[in-house]
Amino acid sequence: MPVIYRLKTLPRVHKIALGLLSTAMVALIMMPTEPAVASRVHADLAVPAKFQDARQPLEIEVQDLPLVDEHLPARELMVKVSRGDTLSSIFARQGLPSVLLHDINRLGADARSLQKIHPGDKLTFSFDRKGQFFGLSYPLDAARTLDIRQSESGLRSRIISVQLEHRTQYAQASVNSNFWNAGVTAGLSAGQIMSLAAMFAWDLDFGLDIRAGDRFAVLYDQRYKDGILVDTGHILAAEFINQGNVYRAIRHDDGNYYSPEGRAMRKSFLRAPVNFSHISSNFNPRRLHPVTGQVKPHRGIDYAARTGTPVVAAGSGVVAESGYSRFNGNYVVIRHDRTYLTKYLHLNKRMVKKGEKVKQEQQIGTVGATGRVTGPHLHYEFLVNGVHKDPKSVDLPQAAFLSRGELAKFRPRADKLLAQLSKVSEVMLANN
Ligand SMILES: [Zn+2]
Repeated sequence: MPVIYRLKTLPRVHKIALGLLSTAMVALIMMPTEPAVASRVHADLAVPAKFQDARQPLEIEVQDLPLVDEHLPARELMVKVSRGDTLSSIFARQGLPSVLLHDINRLGADARSLQKIHPGDKLTFSFDRKGQFFGLSYPLDAARTLDIRQSESGLRSRIISVQLEHRTQYAQASVNSNFWNAGVTAGLSAGQIMSLAAMFAWDLDFGLDIRAGDRFAVLYDQRYKDGILVDTGHILAAEFINQGNVYRAIRHDDGNYYSPEGRAMRKSFLRAPVNFSHISSNFNPRRLHPVTGQVKPHRGIDYAARTGTPVVAAGSGVVAESGYSRFNGNYVVIRHDRTYLTKYLHLNKRMVKKGEKVKQEQQIGTVGATGRVTGPHLHYEFLVNGVHKDPKSVDLPQAAFLSRGELAKFRPRADKLLAQLSKVSEVMLANN
């Protein structure tokens, strides 16, 4: 005997909404010229105060389905997950029987994703004509949906997958005012602009080295379901021309980016310890020292940014010093190996202790105005065998190559993407 799960009680407002909906449907069917389409209503249901979340109104959608077959559901109830919701709070709120929840929780691996629902997720419950539970569907991502159904032998669950169509899109722009604006002009999202900067972060200082006339071309992946765009994926390949130097990167199936020769884009040192999006001195060729007023760069590079901006380790290493002095303010020194040392001065906050191991890109503090300064900035120094060097021009350790086996997989795809990329790039040049 199949277990029957029935809605215990429908809230009154809900019933009224359903009543109105049925009336509307009947009216629609009676009208000769208009086809009767499934109609949707938003019902603001009365929710017990203890479940109400003031920040986010409860969203519920009820849909009566055309009665084609009695083996198909007659009604759907879509619940949008709010902050703080759990499956059991949703069940309680909707008056769904707890024995159903108990059985769903025992369904196994597929259904386990229901224990990790997030605000904004949608759960669609369906019911048969008698108001008995028919099924529950929960989209896991653009391509996969968890489907729980009532069957003769009890509940069963499965994951329904659809094939998404991949399309390669391209974007390109040249830099006029700054890199961010160029990215926006090219039609890239904020996330894509950040990714583009991140994949070249070991070669280029996007905060200080970008110039008018620089240009870039990008190929990226988009996924479509039934002809509708469902998500924008990774950057597949990109070219960046900075002050006449050409940089190219292609994504491998390990998720990392490599040069056309198969050398990792990730190197021992980032070009800048502060993300470009926080740097306020874009396109200022005459960067004056905040104290000395000199144009000539002193022993380090100054990144003007707001107090509190994250400062990250340019490379992995061990914290050699973390302290305070009258001139340096709060400062951190990282020893990377026998050869390389980096210093970070005038920090507002220090987030590492002497002797601590740090990873590349790990936050070590925040930009501040401590010590002998007139405004918030990070003073960054790069030392090779104890001698100050310009981190932009110094020869740095080369990155590793893909293994021979991986390279064999990488090359054909890379060649194809690079050919597409140069086509985009040529079009851009022709248009200029
Ligand atoms: Zn300085």
